Amino acid sequence: RSGVRIGTDLIDEFAVGLAGRLIRPADADYDEARRIWNAAIDRHPGLVSRCLGVADVIHAVKFAARNDLLVAVRGGGHNVAGRALCDNGIVVDLSAMRGVLVEPKTRTVRVQGGATLGDLDRETHLHGLAVPVGVVSKTGVAGLTLGGGVGWLVRKHGLSCDNVISFELVTAEGRLLTASAEEHPDLFWALRGGGGNFGIVTCFTFRAQQISSVFGGLIVHGRNKAREVLRFYRDFMATAPEELTAYAAMLTTPDGMPAVGIVACWCGDMEEGARVLAPLRAFGPPLLDAIQPMPYPSMQKLLDGAFPDGTHNYWKASFVPQLTDTVIDLLVEHGNRMESPLSACLVEFYGGAPGRVSRADSAFAQRNAEYNIGMTAQWTDPAESERHIAWVRAMYDAFEPHSSGMHLLNFQSEPAEDVIRASFGDNYSRLAEVKRKYDPMNFFSLNQNISAAAH
Ligand code: FAD
Repeated sequence: RSGVRIGTDLIDEFAVGLAGRLIRPADADYDEARRIWNAAIDRHPGLVSRCLGVADVIHAVKFAARNDLLVAVRGGGHNVAGRALCDNGIVVDLSAMRGVLVEPKTRTVRVQGGATLGDLDRETHLHGLAVPVGVVSKTGVAGLTLGGGVGWLVRKHGLSCDNVISFELVTAEGRLLTASAEEHPDLFWALRGGGGNFGIVTCFTFRAQQISSVFGGLIVHGRNKAREVLRFYRDFMATAPEELTAYAAMLTTPDGMPAVGIVACWCGDMEEGARVLAPLRAFGPPLLDAIQPMPYPSMQKLLDGAFPDGTHNYWKASFVPQLTDTVIDLLVEHGNRMESPLSACLVEFYGGAPGRVSRADSAFAQRNAEYNIGMTAQWTDPAESERHIAWVRAMYDAFEPHSSGMHLLNFQSEPAEDVIRASFGDNYSRLAEVKRKYDPMNFFSLNQNISAAAH
């Protein structure tokens, strides 16, 4: 009944040694425990080990290793490919490890491996601080940061992984290590972009920025203006100061109107922000302009409603070095073919701080591929899955000739091995070396997997 081929006596013994809860298929909360954000993922783990601390994580890793179990690691459970779950094996579930400790004097923040962006923002905001993370508050800090991490502060303050000072990590052998510039620097290099390949991060230490309020919000135009708005967005962002991060999207408004939106966030001086953003707000003019000063955590929740729990999702993304008129035409063509009102095509400009870090400095290699084109199909009726997935695949194929060849792996529903390799570029062979050293048997396999055998 456990779904794992080991005796119940061994499982009982494991449960006794766990401070947290061991959830088995017969338990009343099993279905809840195997639910993740993307409802299209329906997997049945043999065991869910809900850890309460580092000792639990080590206990679970050693148990899985001894019994040769397939291991999934759950942080925020938002990975669209469903890597937080497995069939039959064990989920090392960190969703109860959500502590955040802010040290205002040193402007550093310690964050446990299961915390969400909302958990982090809530605590840092008390001190007028912010850590650059993503744009939807229920996303996990862990998966996001290990894969890079882009959000409203990216152009000024860089990727989430660029703001990590150290990682506390449980290895495949169940050893507890610190990875920083001084300790295990090879691991520190690999964890900044290389995903969950090397161990379970139980705690991140971040550098925080002094940001309390921002000037931002949403602008909406009718879809018939998509071409002009996207061209304006490109030209405007080309000279916009790095305090401004703004994304454009082909989307459908909640009342069903096909639209093109721009979401902007200015993280510098408020008056200067108002001046810089004036032309963006005047262009068109838009049907809706909701740009205003707001506390940073409000900005961080602005898009939450667009990504509700329990929807079915299939996503892909491609980096394009230039937003040419041809690329914009493709965006409009494919955007107009979207069949679900919850789906979107996104254009995200990351030019700035990420490109000032050298590719060799961390595993994250996609530093100069400035526009990320996101293709996010989201729907509610599983009977419709095929056509929404087909829409994403067709759009992805159409963008391939324009792509830098790199892709944001955290946005991919099923990244093929060649896509993973290409997205790390020259860093792949060094990642394989680190994998050979810390996880030669591929104990941590459910992630953007690096082959230890590669040279
Ligand atoms: P999980 O599904 O829990 O884990 C993801 C991967 O990380 C898995 O391979 C897992 O095994 C591994 N992992 C999780 N926790 C740990 C840990 N503690 N130690 C080691 N490995 C671990 N990305 C951005 O960069 N910016 C955004 O603005 C953004 N917005 C998003 C919005 C939504 C609605 C969604 C669904 C995703 C978004 N993403 C964004 C992508 C996001 O970064 C990835 O989906 C990421 O994998 C989520 O991390 P998680 O911890 O929630 O996921």
